[in-house]
Amino acid sequence: MEPLTRITDVHIHVQPWRDVKPAVLAALRRGHEAQWDFLLSVMDDPARLLEVLDRAGVWRAGLVNYPAPDVMGFTDTTNTFAARYAQANPERLLPYGGVHPRFTRDAAGDVDRLVELGIRLVKIHPPHQQLPANAYTDGLVALGQIYRRCEERGLPVMIHTGTSIFPGARSKYGNPLELDDVAVDFPDLRIVMAHGGRPLYMAEAFFVLRRHPRVWLDVSGIPPGRLLEYFPRLAEVADRVLWGTDWPSPGVTDLRRNIDQFLALPLSDAHKKAILETNALALLPVAG
Ligand SMILES: [Zn+2]
Repeated sequence: MEPLTRITDVHIHVQPWRDVKPAVLAALRRGHEAQWDFLLSVMDDPARLLEVLDRAGVWRAGLVNYPAPDVMGFTDTTNTFAARYAQANPERLLPYGGVHPRFTRDAAGDVDRLVELGIRLVKIHPPHQQLPANAYTDGLVALGQIYRRCEERGLPVMIHTGTSIFPGARSKYGNPLELDDVAVDFPDLRIVMAHGGRPLYMAEAFFVLRRHPRVWLDVSGIPPGRLLEYFPRLAEVADRVLWGTDWPSPGVTDLRRNIDQFLALPLSDAHKKAILETNALALLPVAG
């Protein structure tokens, strides 16, 4: 296989950790004690992150950010943080942001402001924002307005699926079947299903993926060596699978190790290249 020089990791957590609640920070720190000071410095300095990416052979990374003040501690400043951080290298750093459906007073206007900031993708995190991904079908009007505006502006939406272990998170909102509604009601919206419902809802996740051509699978958070146990028919949707690691979430210590484990899977070279490089380039083209 020819060397891969255009790998995009669509899902890493570079966030304003100084805003995070103490109990959440403790959960983030677990397993990372030895490199904790280094990780804190990464959150402050994009040059450190670019070194991490260089060492791992990763070209671009998506910086997951979203407001979740009551569970995680992140406020709307998470958006300006992401935008400012990514300015260090707009080609390689892709800032993601969010609008909180339960707290916004102007959902469409807030999405427009994210676009003006340079945000490349909107993240909805049901377990951390304490709502089902289809809550607009049950009265949460602002959530539908966010999806609608993202659809109109061509902004992809990433939705967390599966469990979350952070204190206060509501994992019952992690069922990917709720994305079926979103894909039906917003047919032009490009939806990135983060984590494929792991570790509980892979059958639902695969159904939604197969049914809806504008839903992508972000494999972050799934142990790469076990990806084909989680999704035995992954090859059928390989043109909509995106590489991601969830670094530095608990259990994810090294970007390169995950890539090497993925490369060892019995998938074709063409599918590996699509998942690591080209699918993400189509969804999130190079800026400018
Ligand atoms: Zn994540």
